[in-house]
Amino acid sequence: MNLAFIGLGKMGMGMARNLLRAGHNLVVYNRSREKAAALAGDGARAADSPADASRDAEVVMTMVADDHAVEEVVFGNHGIASAMKNGCIHLSHSTISAALARRLTAEHARRGHGYLSVPVFGRPEAAENKKLLIVAAGPNELVERCRPLFDAVGRQTFVVGVEPWQANVAKVCGNFMIIGIIEALGEAYATLRKAGVAPEAFLEIMNALLGSPFIANYGRIIAREQFEPALFALRLGLKDVRLVLEAAEECAAPMPLASLVHNHLLSALAQGQGEMDWSSMTRVLARNAGL
Ligand code: NAP
Repeated sequence: MNLAFIGLGKMGMGMARNLLRAGHNLVVYNRSREKAAALAGDGARAADSPADASRDAEVVMTMVADDHAVEEVVFGNHGIASAMKNGCIHLSHSTISAALARRLTAEHARRGHGYLSVPVFGRPEAAENKKLLIVAAGPNELVERCRPLFDAVGRQTFVVGVEPWQANVAKVCGNFMIIGIIEALGEAYATLRKAGVAPEAFLEIMNALLGSPFIANYGRIIAREQFEPALFALRLGLKDVRLVLEAAEECAAPMPLASLVHNHLLSALAQGQGEMDWSSMTRVLARNAGL
C-alpha cells in the first residue's frame, strides 16, 4: 500500500520501520527533520510537510504527541486534511481526546476521507518489535481494509466499537489501569521501606501471587528508581489522566482514583519530573512518607 506516516517519536519510529519491513511504500514526515532522514536508509521517502507526505497515500497514519499536535498536522498549514485524496483513510494512533476524535470523524467525512481511531498499548520497545496491542474503532469496512496495517505493527488487534472515539476512551481507561497499579506499587513500597522490608523481596511475593509481567517490570523499575531515560514521559501520562477524567465527566462516571493520581502526577511535574518516566510519580508518594 502507499502509506504516509507522520510523527517519528519514540513510538512512531518503530511502527514506521515495521511498515517498511512489511513491504509498504512509505513517505514520512517529522517536525524535526533529522528523524525522517534517519528512515531514508530503510527505504522511506522524507517529505517536506504533512501535506506533501499524504498527497499520493491510500492511508495516512499519525503518531504525534497530543491533541494540539494532531490538530497541527491535520488542520494546520500544509496539514494532511488539505492534501488527502478522496477515499483516503486517516488512522490516528496518538492518545487523544474523544472530543478531537469526533471532530476528526466529522471533518474527514465532510471531505470524503475515512477516519479510524487506532491508539496502541505497549512501550517503544514493543513498537520496534511489532508487539503492540492495537485498539481500533470505526466503520467495520474501514477496519477490515486496514487490518493488514495493524498486523504489520502489532501482535493483536481489538475492535471496540463503530464510533472512532470509543477506541480513545478504551485507551485512556487502559492507561488509567496502568497508573493505578503504579500508584499502588508506590504506596506499598513507601510503607515497606519505612518498615524495613526491601521492595525487591516484596516484589518476588507479588510476582508469585499475581503472575503479571507488567507488575514485574514496573515493580523492578520503581524499586530501582530507574526513571531515566523515560520510556513514557510523565508529561504525556498526565495528559492521559486528564483525558480519562474528561471522558468520565462526559459520561457522568466518577473516577476518584483518577483524580488522586492526577494530583500526584501534577506534583511530580512541579518537581521537574515531566521528562522522566511516568512511574517516577512514585517519588511523590515516597516524599509524602518522609523518605
Ligand atoms: P514522543 O517521543 O514525545 O514523540 C512525539 C512526536 O510528536 C514527535 O514526532 C514530535 O515531533 C511530534 N510532535 C509533537 N508536537 C508536535 C507538533 N505541534 N507538530 C508536529 N509534530 C509534533 O512521544 P511518543 O512516546 O512517541 O508518543 C506518541 C503518542 O503515542 C502520544 O500520544 C502518546 O501518549 C502515545 N503512546 C506512547 C507510548 C509510550 O510508551 N511512549 C505508548 C503508547 C502510546 P518532534 O520529533 O519534532 O518533537
